[in-house]
Amino acid sequence: MHKIDDNLAKVMARIQQAARESGRDPAGVHLLAVSKTRPAAVVEQAWQWGQRRFGENYLQEALEKKQALTHLPDIEWHFIGPIQSNKTRAIAENFDWVHSIDRLKTAQRLSAQRPSTLPALQVCVQVNIDDEATKAGVSLTELPALAKQVAALPNLHLRGLMSIPAPNDDPQHQRATFARLRDALVSLQQQGLTQLDTLSMGMSGDLEAAIASGATMVRVGTDIFGARAPKE
Ligand SMILES: *Cc1c(COP(=O)(O)O)cnc(C)c1O
Repeated sequence: MHKIDDNLAKVMARIQQAARESGRDPAGVHLLAVSKTRPAAVVEQAWQWGQRRFGENYLQEALEKKQALTHLPDIEWHFIGPIQSNKTRAIAENFDWVHSIDRLKTAQRLSAQRPSTLPALQVCVQVNIDDEATKAGVSLTELPALAKQVAALPNLHLRGLMSIPAPNDDPQHQRATFARLRDALVSLQQQGLTQLDTLSMGMSGDLEAAIASGATMVRVGTDIFGARAPKE
């Protein structure tokens, strides 16, 4: 009856099957519903179904939605878009997670601006895994230094890594790319960042490959909410 309910059930089934096929516990893979450009009523419908984690890219839009949905307990807001310096305060005050840290300055501002009444902001460092000129994220070479500096900030809790690979239709290629992010996480753990437990990778088209390579959080928009209108 509700298309979004059906879609959520289908995406959850895909996650569970992909986890089982890789010999992983499906409970170790969380679904982040990417609700950018979707109205608050649609987020509420997904919440009614049982979805709790939502990802947003555009600050103003996200704040309006959050304001409209304060009556929903346990909802968790994740910021997954590029972060401009003048937006850090509002992000620090309003989100539970940030997946898109790629500069120390941004992390320092978020830590300084995180209200003391809130728990630490959960963060991931974004990695530009395919070294694309136009994509946000640090290179694998820059990653260890940034990760260690972010981990030392008082009001942030560094949880892991996030990446958006270059589009590629070949599942084997997708798995190999995601495995490079997993290897980078393992390497950081071995360098002393033992608290890292999150690989935010995989979207509508490649979540199976991401789970096969160790994803703990897949970020899915289109396959839950339908195609997005192109942003001008
Ligand atoms: C939009 C977006 C997604 C969701 O992508 P879909 O292909 O719609 O599933 C995931 N992650 C990030 C960072 C995004 O901006």
